[in-house]
Amino acid sequence: MTYSLRQTGSFAGAAAGALLTASVIGAAPPGQLVDGGWHSVGQNDWEQRYSPLTQIDVASVDQLGLAWFADMDTEATQEATPIVVDGILYVTTAWSMVKAFDAATGEPLWAYDPEIDRKKGADACCDVVNRGVAYADGKVFLGALDGRLIALEARTGREVWSEQTTDPALPYTITGAPRIARGKVIIGNGGAEYRVRGYVSGYDIETGKMAWRWFVVPGDPRLPFEQPELEAAAKTWNGEWWTLGGGGTVWDSMAYDPALNSLYVGTGNGTPWNQELRSPGGGDNLFLASIVALDPATGKYKCHFQETPGETWDYTSTQPIIVATLRYETGPRKVILHAPKNGFFYVLDAETCRPVSVEKFAYSTWATGWDKTTNRPIENPAARFGTTGKAVILTPFAQGLHNWHPMAFSPETGLVYLPVTVSNAVYAPAKNFTPKLNGWNTGTDFAAGRDLYKEPGAPKPGEIESYLLAWDPVAQKEVWRAPNSVYGATGVVATAGGLIFSGNHAGEFAAYDAKTGKRLWAAPAGARVVAAPAAYAIRGKQYVAVLVGARGLPEGQPRTSTISGNNSRLLVFALGGKVQLPTELASGTTAAAKAFDPPLSTATPETITAGAQAYAPNCAACHGANGVAGQGAIAPDLRYSALLRDGAQWGRIVIHGERAARGMPGFGKTLGAKDSDAILAYVIKRANDAKAEGK
Ligand code: CA
Repeated sequence: MTYSLRQTGSFAGAAAGALLTASVIGAAPPGQLVDGGWHSVGQNDWEQRYSPLTQIDVASVDQLGLAWFADMDTEATQEATPIVVDGILYVTTAWSMVKAFDAATGEPLWAYDPEIDRKKGADACCDVVNRGVAYADGKVFLGALDGRLIALEARTGREVWSEQTTDPALPYTITGAPRIARGKVIIGNGGAEYRVRGYVSGYDIETGKMAWRWFVVPGDPRLPFEQPELEAAAKTWNGEWWTLGGGGTVWDSMAYDPALNSLYVGTGNGTPWNQELRSPGGGDNLFLASIVALDPATGKYKCHFQETPGETWDYTSTQPIIVATLRYETGPRKVILHAPKNGFFYVLDAETCRPVSVEKFAYSTWATGWDKTTNRPIENPAARFGTTGKAVILTPFAQGLHNWHPMAFSPETGLVYLPVTVSNAVYAPAKNFTPKLNGWNTGTDFAAGRDLYKEPGAPKPGEIESYLLAWDPVAQKEVWRAPNSVYGATGVVATAGGLIFSGNHAGEFAAYDAKTGKRLWAAPAGARVVAAPAAYAIRGKQYVAVLVGARGLPEGQPRTSTISGNNSRLLVFALGGKVQLPTELASGTTAAAKAFDPPLSTATPETITAGAQAYAPNCAACHGANGVAGQGAIAPDLRYSALLRDGAQWGRIVIHGERAARGMPGFGKTLGAKDSDAILAYVIKRANDAKAEGK
């Protein structure tokens, strides 16, 4: 070891302070236990994603190395922040699976699979992701993609209770982490691209019984309103908005302040996006795209602020919410910090929800500025494509200038650290919009208006730039930015060691100086990184953990995991860590999944050649060139597939899209049964070749 611990021994009581700065202990946000753990996805009730640990700091970070890693068995995107309680690390992966590890050694302790019906994947707008679990009273709480809220025994992973929180007949999903407040486990849902009515619910931690439910948007006004404030909210809507649900889903962010007894939730976009179809003639459409404060014990409304009135661009307010005490010249003030998709940075009073200050944190064109008198955005009149009936290029597009990727606040620097993505796209109204029972109902035409990019002065289309931004919320000013070499957003953590940790889409996990943005350290992640890290300490040793893997691999990155086409893994770093990630796909070694066991190759050379010719243009982009899922492959290596022995099912998958919900589209429009059989023969031949070579 080339570093010295400031304190060794049991990580409890006074010893815990050894890794912490005294000033931060004094100001520890509520819900933050000073035991070295990371107890909730946001680290504490205020969701600052700030670790008080200091062992890994600006001076020691160059000795940071991989301590352990664990492969994840899915090809989908990994968005979860791990939590660490009593030495156990709990993390969710895609398809709402939960895994528990010894947080120091990486020894797997248990795994839980809610066995989501894979057809449910069609209701997930943006991959079958999950952003983590909550912990309370010896139980781990999971929001499952199919709408179940599940309590597991933390020690064993045994199911304690399970409640269906949504109507299974409707396209609701859950991808967000549950939160804990006042003896309740609180969960929202997603689905506003489809046809749902958003709400958030509180369930009793012990029994799983629903205690309250708060609806974001009013229902049919001819029926009694579920909550008194919905009567006033209904006056901000027109037409028959409730027929498609209205949207407003609480699909990700919450924060809690025990002193004010306020649970803050961020609400989503309207359904359909096009407001003219949803609420003809306009209106603010409360409580879409808002921050809402609720009493977490009862679900009763306390206050709100609507960030995007009359939302029509998928500009949700579901982005991460942080509660903080900011030091103004006039004195300290408890505020909500929020940087939603629409590109304004909001500092709101935590008690009243009223704006303290609002400024643009990045380039946008949908609004020219913020009206400080009315506290509303000054819209670009052309932006309301539903009203004008005309296509328009806008920044940002639906992914927002900042999306779900967690931001962090450091009480030491007083800065917020957030990933910014600058994009643009055409918004155009759909002609002859007819709502669908299945699939998206946005009321927009994604194919229209492409010619606008040919006009003089038009921007370069699509994804323009992305960077890690340090923002001063008191001055409402940029302090520094660290540009990404490859476009894309990644979650962030700040530490008392003066560091900001974040991955990137180039396949790295990196540390930055919190004060200057200087990049101090980076390690290969072997995958694209979108999730946020967590920092924790066990027996006097600090760790930084991050779940990596998103659809596709970074350029030049080969597949190195036999159980995940996108190298999905949990990576855990510590000072002096010496573990190396695999640099190539190990085959034929230990696990059964790695062994080639193909049926005999009996097809004619002509059939195999025809199969190779059909494979190249149709299959290679995802499954790899020449039947080998090597560099750049995002889907499984078919040579290992059990389906090589089941030509009938192979055909149903290739031609009829039986696994469309798992990301494998049907090719019935371009391939016939003969092609499917020939591709199968070709892959069988390639598997036999590999087996013969002993690979
Ligand atoms: Ca949306």
